[in-house]
Amino acid sequence: MIKSIRFLRLWALLVPFIIYGQTAPSEPSNKTMSFEEYEPRSTLVVPGHPVTRAKYPFIDVHNHQANMSPERLKEVAAEMDKLNMAVMVNLSGRGFRRAQNPDGTTTTGLNDGEYLKNSIENVKTAAPGRFLVFTNVDFNGIGEPGWTEKAVRELTQDVKNGATGLKIYKSLGLETKDSSGKRVTVDDPRLDPIWAKCGELKIPVLIHSGDPAPFWLPQDKFNERWLELKQFPDRYRYGKEPSWEQVMNEQFNVFKKHPQTTFISAHMAWMANDLARLGKVLAEHPNMHTEIGAIIYEPGRQPRFARDWFIKYQDRVLFGKDIWAPEEYHVYFRVLETADEYFDYYRKRHAFWKMYGLELPDEVLKKLYYKNALRLLPGIDKSKFPE
Ligand SMILES: [Zn+2]
Repeated sequence: MIKSIRFLRLWALLVPFIIYGQTAPSEPSNKTMSFEEYEPRSTLVVPGHPVTRAKYPFIDVHNHQANMSPERLKEVAAEMDKLNMAVMVNLSGRGFRRAQNPDGTTTTGLNDGEYLKNSIENVKTAAPGRFLVFTNVDFNGIGEPGWTEKAVRELTQDVKNGATGLKIYKSLGLETKDSSGKRVTVDDPRLDPIWAKCGELKIPVLIHSGDPAPFWLPQDKFNERWLELKQFPDRYRYGKEPSWEQVMNEQFNVFKKHPQTTFISAHMAWMANDLARLGKVLAEHPNMHTEIGAIIYEPGRQPRFARDWFIKYQDRVLFGKDIWAPEEYHVYFRVLETADEYFDYYRKRHAFWKMYGLELPDEVLKKLYYKNALRLLPGIDKSKFPE
């Protein structure tokens, strides 16, 4: 009796498999799907140590805040506290302005110095010591008489008003045209007095030149940024001038021409996928530093090589993030601090692969998080940071 019940139970379990296993129609949509739709859930079980708060107080040298009102600054500072972010650098000190012209067209450009001055005043009252503000150069009108002198004058005034650095957007070298319609190269001699002035004023220049090199490659099945190019077709530069090499070399020319000025090349100079080459570039330019904004997926896929590299160049790299999305910082912390394996990154168009932790030594982590920034950026209260 007992035996036959067991036998029936076994059949009850097996019959649906035998019948449906062969005849059940599978959903056609599961057999064909786009790359964008494919989000496999990892079945890997390994120890994991998510990090929601950095091990040490840190300085984010690459951030953009469009709203610098006292209310907003207080809100952002509260979020920063949760991450252990001591200081944020707002690189968009001059913000953005859209003006309606009488003929109906719009001109986009930077705000005036008053905007920057007000932002710095707001920091003093709402969140003292928590935000630094970099100024920007308005390239509108370059080539017209007196443009360079005016740019240097405004830079000097902005620094007097509390700006602690200069940020150059990637439009220089890629899009910016002079008054005669010619592309302005990154190493255009008309900009030399600006770089020299920054050296004289002892403020760093954080400069973003170029874009990820795959943007210049054919958008085919071999391109690691295929998805990004699909989502943002205007980023595609295949066959366009200037080449990636050209723009990057122009940037390095500036570093060479101005050894007295400190430069921070944004986004690991778009060479975090070729760290040996980036190391050579750093060795050639003693006044060059870099920061890890928006590229953590590169060290995160080469944890052993990158760990050695970060140790070797520990005095040359700063912490940056770029987009202000607090929960995304957790991935940065986890890549830098832990030895975790195969965990998620947050933006598929940057990286469809998983992350691995570098488990950087404490001393290297401290330099990356704050010590290098304290050395290069004026105006930060050092007493907030451990020895
Ligand atoms: Zn940026």
